[in-house]
Amino acid sequence: KRTITRLPEWLKTPIPSPGANPNFGKIKADLRGLGLHTVCEEARCPNIGECWGGSNKAAATATIMLMGDTCTRGCRFCSVKTSRAPGPLDPHEPENTAEALARWGLGYVVLTSVDRDDLVDGGAHHFAETIRKIKQKKPTLLVEALTGDFGGNLDMVKVVAESGLDVYAHNVETTEGLTPYVRDRRATFRQSLKVLEHVKAVKGKEGIITKTSIMLGLGETEEEILDTLRELRKVDVDVVTFGQYMRPTKRHLKVEKYVTPDEFGLWRQRALDMGFLYCASGPLVRSSYKAGEAFIENVLR
Ligand code: SF4
Ligand code: SF4
Repeated sequence: KRTITRLPEWLKTPIPSPGANPNFGKIKADLRGLGLHTVCEEARCPNIGECWGGSNKAAATATIMLMGDTCTRGCRFCSVKTSRAPGPLDPHEPENTAEALARWGLGYVVLTSVDRDDLVDGGAHHFAETIRKIKQKKPTLLVEALTGDFGGNLDMVKVVAESGLDVYAHNVETTEGLTPYVRDRRATFRQSLKVLEHVKAVKGKEGIITKTSIMLGLGETEEEILDTLRELRKVDVDVVTFGQYMRPTKRHLKVEKYVTPDEFGLWRQRALDMGFLYCASGPLVRSSYKAGEAFIENVLR
């Protein structure tokens, strides 16, 4: 048998089948016919059974991609298609997405998108309109927006922050030192911190939850991770997640290290000790991993 990549045991997980968990099967069945495209299914996320099928239906989480599948940026860890001029936005997307989400049996939705540097507002109003429509149709549905940096245009961050969402997420992805090698050249660590800081400036420290995500295994040192966490706490980021960087193709950055589950556990503990409200950390964790469950346990409690 030919081994293409040597993955550690803890990264080999079976993709769960609909029959494995009744709640997961029900949510998956409900999805058919709603016309929604979930990142969970399209990226074949290994966490789908846990996110969609937890014991508490009110916590069921899914991630939806808005504004198309083509990004104006090209980060070196990401396999999304890129183009300088992706197609125009679908003006019906906010309404249709909200309608479909209101009918689907989810408790928590993460809305995310490609970066749209080609649009004057970076797509901020499209995001905000989608969130407002969701909240009109189903006020109990918890909404997280995972946005880009809007090229540093903080007025656009404000547009999204004031749209009625529960959690504002923006990913720093990696340490400050590795940022130029990992992310698109238009993204900087400081700009990302400003985005997260501005959300709190607009909504007040207690008025909204902010969240970010860090990939491990790109060559960062322990001290650099600690520095990153300190910088995030300085701007009152509430939630951090850690996951293993996985190389999508040979053309992408290579994995420098497979971080063990124990080390991920240690990072979770360190984050909590530094005052983060909650932290998901594990080899397969994505920023939206069981986000509904964590929010309900730590914020609504
Ligand atoms: Fe979907 Fe995110 Fe959960 Fe994966 S981690 S199943 S993308 S919500
Ligand atoms: Fe991928 Fe986001 Fe970077 Fe675009 S901005 S290439 S979607 S990580």
